[in-house]
Amino acid sequence: MSIEEIDLHASLKKHFGFSGFKGLQEEVIKNVVAGNNTFVIMPTGGGKSLCYQLPALIKDGTAIVVSPLIALMKNQVDAIRAVSEHEGVAHVLNSSLNKTEVKRVKDDIINGVTKLLYVAPESLTKEEYVDFLRTVKISFMAVDEAHCISEWGHDFRPEYRNLKTIIKRIGDDIPIVGLTATATPKVQEDILKSLGMPNAVTFKASFNRPNLYYEVRPKTKNVDADIIRFVKQNEGKSGIVYCLSRKRVEELAQVLQVNGIKAVPYHAGLDAKTRVKHQDMFLMEDTDVVVATIAFGMGIDKPDVRFVIHHDIPKSIESYYQETGRAGRDGGEGHCLAYYAYKDIEKLEKFMAGKPVAEQEIGHALLQEVVAFAETSVSRRKFILHYFGEEFDNATGEGGDMDDNVRHPKKQVEAKEDVKLL
Ligand code: ADP
Ligand code: MG
Repeated sequence: MSIEEIDLHASLKKHFGFSGFKGLQEEVIKNVVAGNNTFVIMPTGGGKSLCYQLPALIKDGTAIVVSPLIALMKNQVDAIRAVSEHEGVAHVLNSSLNKTEVKRVKDDIINGVTKLLYVAPESLTKEEYVDFLRTVKISFMAVDEAHCISEWGHDFRPEYRNLKTIIKRIGDDIPIVGLTATATPKVQEDILKSLGMPNAVTFKASFNRPNLYYEVRPKTKNVDADIIRFVKQNEGKSGIVYCLSRKRVEELAQVLQVNGIKAVPYHAGLDAKTRVKHQDMFLMEDTDVVVATIAFGMGIDKPDVRFVIHHDIPKSIESYYQETGRAGRDGGEGHCLAYYAYKDIEKLEKFMAGKPVAEQEIGHALLQEVVAFAETSVSRRKFILHYFGEEFDNATGEGGDMDDNVRHPKKQVEAKEDVKLL
């Protein structure tokens, strides 16, 4: 089928009920349908899934989708099934399936019913699966969260490293679609190289979030009081406060509660029931604030988070961008406030001490960027976008006056009264 013959808008409406494409989606989809290697870089929430889901539904054969998280794969499969006539249109292939279930998946693929096959990268190392996939028609291979392939990314997964070899074994000329929300040029290079697609057509959306206000304050011993004041000034609004340690999360949640603020803790040390309860309380607005470690956020889709506070500075600009990115998803106000003390950087350096040297070097380099960001007098937005390889002109760009360094140019961001916090 040629691209001209397909009415992409009609397919979009039919399969997903959407009346138009977002951002670069249409161009990307045309390129994927045409069978080219494609590289998609869009911020979280940009609509990357559709860039492979729609082509998969249109094209002959089955698209293999590699994704690192079983929960995310299941969500997508459920969503696709909900809008399809045949349940077999999408499947997950993983180690938890029994023989009968695996047979059912294989039959659906052989019979041309399955358009999307989601697999975790470790499942693809199974000989049996690879041998099977060699024998069927694969439309293309989508590697979601492709930054997992890079040690420079924030979520390196060694299993992703083998993908290139495995894809080649499944079929020599299978088009590859890599997708990520990580915009740093280093990670991008790594992805193109590691997936073996130097010639991929690259689509990169802007990472500018014009409605977010960025601010860094020096972290003094009064940080808790400062946070309380900030939250009280924003009474009734939803917000997230990120802390490095579980202990600090618990302490700060309590301090906020004692001060009459509706706050709950969230970290991986809490039992699953409590975590779900606290997350739901946040979504249902039974609590205003979640004090959390980075365990909180993946897959949380609350559009009206009005502030994200970093009690502790994150370990990379990317983490900072991802975490602050949870504010203002609805396009409304989103205040991003980070507290910075150089002592916290030293603490993060210490955490890396036991790790392999290469990893330490990368971690150190990423931290230096965080220091530069925290201490810069340049526009925060300009800094972040530059880090992501994007030129930003504050005079003409959207959100050009939305950070502390632009609004209050003389302010020095330097922590004078560092304190031990753990
Ligand atoms: P990403 O993977 O880039 O973070 P998703 O693929 O999860 O983003 O999409 C984010 C949200 O945008 C989802 O709720 C999705 O349904 C919605 N979405 C995607 N494309 C469109 C579109 N063309 N029109 C309306 N909503 C869309
Ligand atoms: Mg995604």
